Amino acid sequence: MPLSLEEAAAIAAQKETTHTTARATVQGMEEHLYTAIPVLDHGFIRVIDYMGDDSAITQAARVSYGKGTKSVSNDEGLIRYLMRHWHSTPFEMCEVKLHVKLPVFVARQWIRHRTANVNEYSARYSILDREFYIPAPEHLAAQSSTNNQGRGDVLQGEEAQRVLDYLRDDSIRAYDHYEAMLGTEDQQGLARELARMNLPANIYTQWYWKVDLHNLFHFLRLRADAHAQYEIRVYAEAICDVVKDWVPAAYAAFEDYRLGGAQLSAKGVAALKRMLAGEQMDAEKAGMTKGEWREFEALLA
Ligand SMILES: Cc1cc2nc3c(=O)[nH]c(=O)nc-3n(C[C@H](O)[C@H](O)[C@H](O)COP(=O)(O)OP(=O)(O)OC[C@H]3O[C@@H](n4cnc5c(N)ncnc54)[C@H](O)[C@@H]3O)c2cc1C
Repeated sequence: MPLSLEEAAAIAAQKETTHTTARATVQGMEEHLYTAIPVLDHGFIRVIDYMGDDSAITQAARVSYGKGTKSVSNDEGLIRYLMRHWHSTPFEMCEVKLHVKLPVFVARQWIRHRTANVNEYSARYSILDREFYIPAPEHLAAQSSTNNQGRGDVLQGEEAQRVLDYLRDDSIRAYDHYEAMLGTEDQQGLARELARMNLPANIYTQWYWKVDLHNLFHFLRLRADAHAQYEIRVYAEAICDVVKDWVPAAYAAFEDYRLGGAQLSAKGVAALKRMLAGEQMDAEKAGMTKGEWREFEALLA
């Protein structure tokens, strides 16, 4: 369960409170506010606050006094132009603050994105919950034979069961020992900041994460990509759905130029031109390594 009954009640109460403002608001985002969107078995993302909308991007680009738009289509065209030409600072005028609950091993990948502001739940101060990520059977896969950083076939039968048993048993045992090490009425116990060190990387942590739209797009470009690890990709995909409702024009441009678009090397452009001219190409003719050629072919397929 991503949320306890008390947490769900606190969110419902928060959603009842409304404020008046002269600032731009976005209906789609207002509907997301505070609501926990489940991710993985115990995780979630929820929008805590946001600033700006599509107009804030064009307004900043034009450095105008008001909404700064002539028409919606003008705005969309400008946003696409900005995205296409990597004119990125206008996208930094929009910000979003998320509350994220995620396994520690996912948090380690996520935290590498340095251009955000983070405040994490303190396991020095508080006791961590007994919540561990256990992959669904369809995500228990073997090491990929072609990609050192990827997965291959899904484990089956006894092997899958054995792996699941290890994951569950180790999680339970580690948490039992964590609890046993903490102070109780009968024992002084080990400090929380030390007792936590035996906990596995599939335990859940939580943080508040605030980022501007430019850097969020960079995060989503890398983490919503098919090559990103599934466990972080599902968070990125959930955020994509939110961003779509927040800044639809900017998201559409991002989806077109970045998420769905592709970057070619100079060798790639030259090879593509020769292919369009009818020439049969291979890695050697293109001057590419086998890996580069495989990725190039996959792109065109
Ligand atoms: C598929 C994949 C595999 C990966 N594998 C590994 C791995 O094996 N090992 C590993 O350690 N990491 C790995 N990473 C993490 C990766 O190297 C980046 O650290 C991570 O994606 C964050 O990207 P970033 O630095 O561009 O983002 P951010 O930290 O958000 O930075 C955004 C941009 O700001 C600029 N910037 C920020 N800080 C600095 C700085 N200090 N100096 C100069 N410019 C800065 C850069 O232009 C940067 O691109 C992997 C990432 C992906 C997506």
